[in-house]
Amino acid sequence: MNAYISSVIENVKAKHQSEPEFIQTVEEVLSSLSPVMDAHPEYEKADILNRIVEPERMFTFRVVWTDDNGNVHTNIGYRCQFNGAIGPYKGGLRFQKNVCPSIIKFLGFEQIFKNALTGLPIGGGKGGADFDPTGRSEAEIMRFCQSFMSALYRYIGPNVDVPAGDMGVGSREIGYLFGQYRRLKGAWENGVLTGKGFTYGGSLTRPEATGYGAMYYLKEVLRHEGEDIKGKTIAVSGFGNVAWGICKKALQMGAKVITLSGPDGYILDEEGVSTSEEKVAYLLEMRSSNRNRVKDYADKFGVPFFEGEKPWGVKADVMMPAATQNDVGLESAKRIVANGIKYYIEVANMPTTNEALEFLKKQENMIVAPSKAVNAGGVGVSALEMAQNWEHLVWSAEEVDAQLHRMMENIVRTSAQAAEEYGLGYDLVAGANIAGFKKVAQAMYEQGIF
Ligand code: GLU
Repeated sequence: MNAYISSVIENVKAKHQSEPEFIQTVEEVLSSLSPVMDAHPEYEKADILNRIVEPERMFTFRVVWTDDNGNVHTNIGYRCQFNGAIGPYKGGLRFQKNVCPSIIKFLGFEQIFKNALTGLPIGGGKGGADFDPTGRSEAEIMRFCQSFMSALYRYIGPNVDVPAGDMGVGSREIGYLFGQYRRLKGAWENGVLTGKGFTYGGSLTRPEATGYGAMYYLKEVLRHEGEDIKGKTIAVSGFGNVAWGICKKALQMGAKVITLSGPDGYILDEEGVSTSEEKVAYLLEMRSSNRNRVKDYADKFGVPFFEGEKPWGVKADVMMPAATQNDVGLESAKRIVANGIKYYIEVANMPTTNEALEFLKKQENMIVAPSKAVNAGGVGVSALEMAQNWEHLVWSAEEVDAQLHRMMENIVRTSAQAAEEYGLGYDLVAGANIAGFKKVAQAMYEQGIF
């Protein structure tokens, strides 16, 4: 590995010992960049790497709210404005019990390169709170969101930083967050948030965009191998908004999603979740119930449920981990390989440990695609939502979907070309890191030292 890269990784490890997820993503991204750094000594001279691993700004804030029984709760809110070289900071908010600086920073770091890959002018950011929405009432969620936004609103804006949803934050939460922003600002600045409802500036196709984008990405990869998506079986982990989008597009494309998973276990639907609109729609119901259980699907549709297990041992053509970070470690990766999976398409942010990812990439008969490229359609359509808000226009669902489709084709092509350019062959993982990095690095370089 390039000596400068090794020294930056060592710096990050020494400085951020309590941030394992952040160290993991820094190692993953930077270890792809050796040929780029060798070819661009000016980036080392400007110390681009030590600069890019340090957020431009990151802050915490107190979020206090009262539950339905009158008890007062205090949570920590976060926003990490990681890199604004190519556009306003852009990235979701995650409300989950385990949210901490390491998780916010790993997500923010991934977001920089993902957003660059979309080809649209958006910088990288991320935020959230250690608030657990499980079992909370509608009124409690609204009060939490209002309190969260009261603390955050001064530091964001349509040209400054544009948050959106992530785990625990869907269109309902975005609605409450936007309501509070508007109330405090006294101005119609709906480009400050994306993933909004359709009555006040949300983009059609945004709810489906991450899952649709992942399926368009998969289609391109299959095309490269001379295969058709029709009739392919797909094992999916997770059962949230992204899994829903995957199932909805799979239904249109004639592909079969056969598993879903939750914290309680996984379900196996040999007939295909993506073969009936009723089944696909039920995913939304399960999510909005706040029960966080996938067994409900098995009970409703009479399919097998495997308690406490993950779907890594299931036979399918494609594996799409779409749940959360570090779901697939080395042992799970070995099971996936043993089952003859040919396409390992990451969808959730960093679902694979670095060790497992290395192992999967080494398999001769396997194609591995990285989440920061595969799931970029979500934030890509968020950027289209921002564009519509600036123009005070609404584009049709077909228009947005067509742009998303082109965007994903572009991402696959750009990633493949970037890897090819540096002699790495058809390496979609390294190619995504290189293509995303080069755009941001060049922008930082041209803007001077700071
Ligand atoms: N949270 C999503 C992501 O991981 C979406 C971010 C956005 O739309 O700003 O990319």
